[in-house]
Amino acid sequence: MLKIDHETCNLCGLCQKSCPFGAISAGEKKVMVDERCTLCGACVNVCPQAALSIERRQASAEELARYRGVYVWTECEERGKHLVPRRVVYELLTHGRRLADRLGQPLVAVVLGDARMQDLERLCHQGAERVVCCRHDLLGSYSTDGFATALAAVVAKEKPSVLLFGATPNGRDLAPRVAARLRFGLTADCTGLEIDDQGQLVQTRPAFGGNIMASIISPYTRPQAATVRPNVFAAAAPDPLRPVAIEDFPVTLSKASIRTRRVETIATAAEGEKIEEARVIVAAGRGCGEPSHLDLVRSLAHRLGGVMAGSRAIVELGWVPHTIQVGQSGTTVGPDLYIAVGISGAVQHVVGMSSSKKIVAINKDPDAPIFKIADLGVVGDALQILPKLLDALKT
Ligand SMILES: Cc1cc2nc3c(=O)[nH]c(=O)nc-3n(C[C@H](O)[C@H](O)[C@H](O)COP(=O)(O)OP(=O)(O)OC[C@H]3O[C@@H](n4cnc5c(N)ncnc54)[C@H](O)[C@@H]3O)c2cc1C
Repeated sequence: MLKIDHETCNLCGLCQKSCPFGAISAGEKKVMVDERCTLCGACVNVCPQAALSIERRQASAEELARYRGVYVWTECEERGKHLVPRRVVYELLTHGRRLADRLGQPLVAVVLGDARMQDLERLCHQGAERVVCCRHDLLGSYSTDGFATALAAVVAKEKPSVLLFGATPNGRDLAPRVAARLRFGLTADCTGLEIDDQGQLVQTRPAFGGNIMASIISPYTRPQAATVRPNVFAAAAPDPLRPVAIEDFPVTLSKASIRTRRVETIATAAEGEKIEEARVIVAAGRGCGEPSHLDLVRSLAHRLGGVMAGSRAIVELGWVPHTIQVGQSGTTVGPDLYIAVGISGAVQHVVGMSSSKKIVAINKDPDAPIFKIADLGVVGDALQILPKLLDALKT
């Protein structure tokens, strides 16, 4: 809570001006704070009298120990008439299994949907001990209100130690809602998750424009929650011999409490080129020279049964849409084969493709950083190499 030392406060009003949420009012006699305060600390930093302080309730070790298990929110997508788990869920369960084993705790998948849900056994085959399943007609399509209410109910009852979300558009919407409702910490867009010797989740993510990797812990609240982009972790092969345990978790939802509803689904123009799920990607960078040269890159991608992607440089030049940008401010990909053509290998690009199984780089500069992570490097002019490659693939 925000503490105000009224003896020291000189009613200067700077705290009121600095509050981004309008939660502070400096009256004639007293500064008051209301429920809009998020404890962001902006007022504490500006107070010239040091009259404001934040008191964060620290949970005791006994309280923290009551939280157990690694839980993964199982986001489903519509496939034909069914709702099935998205691939990122299998990636999170694979890594979640490692975390759960390190903690000596169970791995649990939480799935929210309606009667159309399918393939839930696979969640156990992928490593979960249990599947906690909320089935409700109002959970048939994603809504912030409905999903946040249902998931918050599961988390409040089950008390997980770790809670993971795919950093998909819906995961990025849902995770902060539930975190704010139950007042726990959340680290967005993690690129690494480990358990330290104290049993804490160490969440790694790029910071300061990708120039440093920050390691973040949540020592005072539970669950320790993180969103992770698709393709950061590889999904292991499912083991169909693992036992299956699916439990129903009844939730109460009313139509009136859900403020949004899906009216229609409209596919984006770039729907055909889904780089996130492609097994082969040929990515173009500024080194390709001009937009017309991208035809070579696109042809190579199609010849290999894959799709074309691009660096941010060529997105900013307007050569390709942002939907196919790979990297920190674009999409994270993890194909079997990634061919980088005329891409220097800036850290913000590499963070979005380094989990690719095989990386081939074509660059005319032998010292380009991309060669440090490439399995195969070709030093030369892409405009001469690509036609030769295409010719060789014809035969
Ligand atoms: C906050 C932030 C977020 C960012 N997010 C992203 C992101 O998501 N994705 C991303 O890609 N970048 C991102 N960037 C930008 C990133 O830092 C680089 O500027 C960008 O990746 C460079 O793109 P590039 O490699 O295509 O171009 P350049 O860095 O200009 O590299 C071009 C390369 O092509 C080579 N070359 C030139 N001609 C030829 C030729 N004929 N044949 C072969 N090789 C040739 C050159 O030797 C050079 O290595 C971000 C930056 C910031 C600050």
